[in-house]
Amino acid sequence: MSDRLNGKVVLVTGASSGIGEATALALSAEGARVAAGARRADRLAALADKAPGEVLALDLNVADQDSVRAAVAATVERFGGLDVLVNNAGVMLSGPIAGADTTEWTRMVETNLLGSMYAVHAALPHLLERKGTVLQVSSTSGRTASASSGVYAATKFGINAFSEALRQEVTALGVRVVLVEPGFVSTELAGHITDPAIRAAAQEMAASMRTLQPEDIANAVVYALTQPEHVAVNEILIRPTDQT
Ligand code: NDP
Repeated sequence: MSDRLNGKVVLVTGASSGIGEATALALSAEGARVAAGARRADRLAALADKAPGEVLALDLNVADQDSVRAAVAATVERFGGLDVLVNNAGVMLSGPIAGADTTEWTRMVETNLLGSMYAVHAALPHLLERKGTVLQVSSTSGRTASASSGVYAATKFGINAFSEALRQEVTALGVRVVLVEPGFVSTELAGHITDPAIRAAAQEMAASMRTLQPEDIANAVVYALTQPEHVAVNEILIRPTDQT
C-alpha cells in the first residue's frame, strides 16, 4: 500500500468486474477513498472486502440519470467531496449492422455514451470545486472503427469527442480530462456478445495473443492520476504488444 492518492475521493463506474474492479483496487491501494458503482451488488461487496482501504459500494445503473445523480450524491455525502470520476462502465455487443437487434444499439449508446455523459454532468460541480479529474475509459475503437464494431465504435468515438470538448471547457478551471484507450483486455466484456460467430471470433482473437490484463489498465490510470497538478495526461493508448 502506498499513499500517493491519500484522502482523494474517487468514483469508479462499472467497478464490479474487469478494468473497473482492478482500477478500484489499485486506487484503494494508493490510499484513495473509493466509491464503486455497478448493478451487481454481490461483486461490489466482494470488492469492498478485498480492497485495502475504504470502499463505498453503490447500486448504479449509468443508463438511468437519476441513478447516476444519486450515486454522485451518495459519494459526496459519505466522503465530503469528489476528486476523480473514473467513467468506465460499458458494454460491447458487437455485430454487423445489417439485421442487427437495434435494442443492443440502444443499450450500448445508453450505457457507454449517454451514461458516461450523465456521470460527467453529475460529477462536474464537485470536480470544479476540488480541481479534480475526469478519466474516461474509451477504447482503440474510439480511434479506429472496424466491421462488426460500428455502434460500439460510435459510442467510443463519441466519448473521445465529448472528452475533448470537456477538456477545452474545464482545463483553465483546473479540472483535468484523461482519455484511456485500451486494446484487447482479458475481461468479461466480449462474453456478452450475442452473435455466436462474432463472440467466437473475439475468443479466438484473445487466444491468439498475450492480451492485456485489467491491472495493466489500472496501472495506466494510477500513472495519470498521480502526476503533479500542472501535468495533464490527456490520452493514453495502450495495446497488447501482440495486437496489430
Ligand atoms: P467488464 O464486462 O468486465 O466490465 C464492465 C463493467 O461495466 C461491469 O462492472 C458492469 O457492471 C458495468 N456496467 C455495464 N452496464 C452498466 C450499467 N448500465 N450501469 C452500471 N454499470 C454497468 O468489461 P471491461 O472491464 O473490459 O470493460 C470496462 C470498460 O473498458 C468498458 O467501457 C469497455 O468498453 C472498456 N474497454 C474494454 C476493453 C477490453 O478489451 N476488455 C478494450 C477497450 C475498452 P454490472 O454488470 O455489475 O452493472
